[in-house]
Amino acid sequence: MLARVRPIVFAGPSGAGKSTLIKKLMTEFPSAFGFSVSHTTRKIRPSEVDGVNYHFVEREAMEKEIAEGKFIENAVYSGNMYGTSIKAVQDVVDSGKVCLLDIDLQGVLLVKKTDLNPYYVFISPPSMEELERRLRGRGDTEEDAMQQRLETAKKEMAYRDQEGLWDYVLINESLEDAYAKLRAFITERYPL
Ligand code: 5GP
Repeated sequence: MLARVRPIVFAGPSGAGKSTLIKKLMTEFPSAFGFSVSHTTRKIRPSEVDGVNYHFVEREAMEKEIAEGKFIENAVYSGNMYGTSIKAVQDVVDSGKVCLLDIDLQGVLLVKKTDLNPYYVFISPPSMEELERRLRGRGDTEEDAMQQRLETAKKEMAYRDQEGLWDYVLINESLEDAYAKLRAFITERYPL
């Protein structure tokens, strides 16, 4: 699928602040950006809304749709399936908005093989210690899942400094500062 306007892929470890930054962007520019609502088999969190944050689905249903070719990419993260359906991106593109995607590293590598041609932004925590503090502070993840997420985060961080993978690496030390930098990156590239 070729989007007329380049989408933006946000990657980086869980807890780095991707969703918060995306939310801020969409709140400030509601008519400019639209979120690609992914599918996942993970359990819904109390703060989430089905159809808004994710389409929360059963594994069998998702596997079936993947087999039918309805997904641009999909991956398993911490034991749960996640994926971007063609429709999720198409709906945003059709609305004339810039499509924002929040996906993991496996997803990034898969999207790189498609013709979507997005900008790739890596949101990084200032340190692994701070990432762990933030993930624990969120209080919505059990210890086993937490250990898995921290292990995955370490692996994802190893890709942060890889040459040619990212259009922008943003260190999220303070939300206000990170948002200002992201805003600058974006306003240089899109007529907002
Ligand atoms: P969480 O469970 O914390 O919402 O997300 C876990 C990880 O899955 C995050 O790194 C997030 O970016 C990633 N993720 C969310 N949606 C998708 C998707 O559609 N595809 C892929 N590959 N990863 C996703």
